[in-house]
Amino acid sequence: MSRFAKPSRSLPAGAALVAIVLLFQAPPAAGQSKSAAISAAKPPVKVFISVDMEGISGIVHGDQTTPGTAEYADGRKWMAQDVNAAVDAALAAGATEVVVNDSHGSMRNIDPDDLHPRAVLVSGSPKPLSMMQGVDGSFAACFLIGYHAKAGTENAILDHTISGSVVRHVKLNGVEMPELGLNAAIAGYYGVPVALVTGDMAVCRQAGEVLGKDVVTVAVKEAYGRLAAKLVPMGEARRGIADGVKAALRRLPGLKPFKPAAPYRFELGYHVSAQADMGAMLVPKMERVDARTLAFAAEDYIDGFRTLRALISLAPAR
Ligand SMILES: [Zn+2]
Repeated sequence: MSRFAKPSRSLPAGAALVAIVLLFQAPPAAGQSKSAAISAAKPPVKVFISVDMEGISGIVHGDQTTPGTAEYADGRKWMAQDVNAAVDAALAAGATEVVVNDSHGSMRNIDPDDLHPRAVLVSGSPKPLSMMQGVDGSFAACFLIGYHAKAGTENAILDHTISGSVVRHVKLNGVEMPELGLNAAIAGYYGVPVALVTGDMAVCRQAGEVLGKDVVTVAVKEAYGRLAAKLVPMGEARRGIADGVKAALRRLPGLKPFKPAAPYRFELGYHVSAQADMGAMLVPKMERVDARTLAFAAEDYIDGFRTLRALISLAPAR
């Protein structure tokens, strides 16, 4: 992050997004003038957004992300406003379709009435691809909005990995992964690059570590511990997200999908050994690394991701 609440990278000059749009345009058909072909062909530029809650502007506590609390109404409203800033900026920059997957908890946080009127909402849970449900090879870019750092990160709002009560760590091919990395590999499986990550300073740092220097990050808060942060003013934070979207779409032509090498070795560290026992007893081909750690191999990333989720689902809460 070079500047708080600003896109982390200096922006390439010029109308690079025009180049993106032109990439998607078919060449003019025989006998058809070029200008007629351009005006007739409106190629789709689809953007997929996965929106979590812990990294949303204003959020510092689980009461703001948990239905049934007095503060939850604020949290879900802020969530819609952050994602709407991203949707609006994407459409203004030339996106033709935006799909938003609600990716937190019950995955029914965003009130459809509160979402940008031109965005399509994927709502509810469980979903086969969980936080990435709806992504496929037709999308030009993926944005991860409101994300949080991995379990065990210092000075990170509500740090965890998939399940706070079960997961101590997840490693993919030997590298400890935040959710953003596990999900970016799903997008990468379909050839879609993650172009933007928003959340606190810690998740922005981890986005750069996992995805490389070209991903645009926007920090909307800087954590003091796990449950307090210095907040970017809400309007400024959302302008920062919008600027980040525009920067991300400009640099899209040079961005590569995140594709870790197969075969995939997943390692799941649990908090307690009783949680590892269930996977070791019930799921074939598990390697017991130690009392509270299982590992397994997968040739196909989505197969491995599904096994990982099954192991987490089987584990009793602490
Ligand atoms: Zn969440």
